[in-house]
Amino acid sequence: MTGRRPFLLGAAAVAAGGALPAAWQRASAAATTPAERWIWAKNHAGEEVATAYRAGDAYHPQAVARLRHLFRDLREEVQGPLPPLLVDILSVLQEQWGYTRPLLVGSGYRTLKTNMSLEGAAPASFHLRGWAADISVKGIRPLDLGLSVWTLSQRFGFMGVGLYPGFVHLDVGPRRAWTRFAS
Ligand SMILES: [Zn+2]
Repeated sequence: MTGRRPFLLGAAAVAAGGALPAAWQRASAAATTPAERWIWAKNHAGEEVATAYRAGDAYHPQAVARLRHLFRDLREEVQGPLPPLLVDILSVLQEQWGYTRPLLVGSGYRTLKTNMSLEGAAPASFHLRGWAADISVKGIRPLDLGLSVWTLSQRFGFMGVGLYPGFVHLDVGPRRAWTRFAS
């Protein structure tokens, strides 16, 4: 993939006698540059990552590393896994608002100790694997956010969606949906 563009530009440069028309150059770049995917997320420590984390099928390792750090267990300061698929889903979800509002990640990866200390947390929660994120978006009602996530899960055929007071749980596990509205 990376070798193709210089070859094309080189061949055209030869054909044009060394001078490459600017319009042709722009068209060529547009045709060969893979589309980028973006994400803009914050956590409860006030940290923020807004980045292009993927170009075409290639994930940017540095961007993914920054996101892993953002999604870490904040109580224990421990980083866990962060499946690219989860980032992709969050990015697709966020795209609905044109990346104008950051996703607030209330809980990403959890250690066993943190998970056990949380009231109501599932003992085998997908947060333990780094497969889940509890999110909210300022200015978007959790119900609307939950419906958006649910719509994606219907489209993709997997993902857990949980609606809670003030936030939405989503994970990249099997397709499930639930609500928890304890007072
Ligand atoms: Zn959760």
